[in-house]
Amino acid sequence: TNSVFTGLETTVFERMSRLAIAHQAINLGQGFPDVDGPQDLRQVAADTLMEGPNQYPPMLGVPELRQAVADNNKRFYNLDVDWQTEVMVTSGATEALADTIFALVEPGDEIILIEPLYDCYLSLAQRAGATPVFVKVTPPNWELREEELRKAFSSKTKAILLNNPMNPSAKVFTTQELRLIADLCIEHDCYAICDEVYEHIVFDGEKHHPLMTFQGMRERCIRIGSAGKTFSLTGWKVGYITAAPNLLEPIAKAHQFITFTTPPNLQKAVACGLNKADDYYINFEGELKAKRDLISKPLQEMGFNVLPCEGTYFVTCDFSTLSFTGDDVEFCQKMVEEAGVAAVPISAFYGTQGPKTFVRFCFCKKNSVLEEALGRLQKWL
Ligand code: PMP
Ligand code: GLN
Repeated sequence: TNSVFTGLETTVFERMSRLAIAHQAINLGQGFPDVDGPQDLRQVAADTLMEGPNQYPPMLGVPELRQAVADNNKRFYNLDVDWQTEVMVTSGATEALADTIFALVEPGDEIILIEPLYDCYLSLAQRAGATPVFVKVTPPNWELREEELRKAFSSKTKAILLNNPMNPSAKVFTTQELRLIADLCIEHDCYAICDEVYEHIVFDGEKHHPLMTFQGMRERCIRIGSAGKTFSLTGWKVGYITAAPNLLEPIAKAHQFITFTTPPNLQKAVACGLNKADDYYINFEGELKAKRDLISKPLQEMGFNVLPCEGTYFVTCDFSTLSFTGDDVEFCQKMVEEAGVAAVPISAFYGTQGPKTFVRFCFCKKNSVLEEALGRLQKWL
């Protein structure tokens, strides 16, 4: 019945999490860790909450956190960022995306979305009155085809939305692909909205390269991060935007009318997080890589075709190698009911027709939980 409200469906994550609870299943669907982030950050949040003040913090975010975001840009990407005019704190990356799209995109503008896409992109674009133009990256390697991308750009293109590292495909865009996207943005004079919430989850010695670091892109990119991902605190909903002053200004105006601010104690705690020494980031990536490996090999041995996972905490599997005959939604339904393991069907990440035999497993869970899930799947298959 809510389908009349274009773009406002119940998310696949919410639906699968409800099913997981109903069937007492292990939830490898919705992406969230089952262990809370660093205790010291939680302590800072608790102490700051008690000390106060607990009133509206500055609209752009508390200075400590804006400075920390700017410092992080310098430390990891050698980007020089002015914390006062180029950084804004938001209530999660989701709010950052909403602020950006509502500020920069006008009804009738085209916005390029790469499929499979994180679900809020299409909803936000549609509610902003934009026309989505889809480009597919295709499994198993999720390659971006130059001709298809080139064709998607037009004189009406206002922005491309790039999620790198990419949920749910676990793809990390190559520097050649990024250069191509940059060139097309420059040629067509449009923005790149860069959802980089998984920037610190890139495996196998690769490094994250923000599109913003590419020549000609500093003034065109809106770079978005999230403490939820980087510090395993998804419930806090603290995100941040880095963008040139003339872009941040209208985005901040949208932010005034969407949330205006984000809880000050959480902001101060996240500032401490971003200022952590390099070893925090190295360990975080290392632990997740071990979990990726822990889950990937047994899934492959069970008969799934496990696709490469270059970043994020998701792994996508093709189940067409198994004897199951239904589509991915049916597969996930059966798996949650019969095996007691929840995953997410990849077709939910498409605005157009998508592939129907892929499912996404989230692996940022305790090893014992991953092992239990694997055991259940083994028994079921
Ligand atoms: N973008 C992507 C690609 C995500 O996977 C998620 C969430 N998990 C978000 C944005 C939303 O982040 P937040 O919870 O900070 O709003
Ligand atoms: N980003 C999380 C995921 O991809 C879900 C967040 C949500 O439920 N909206 O699973």
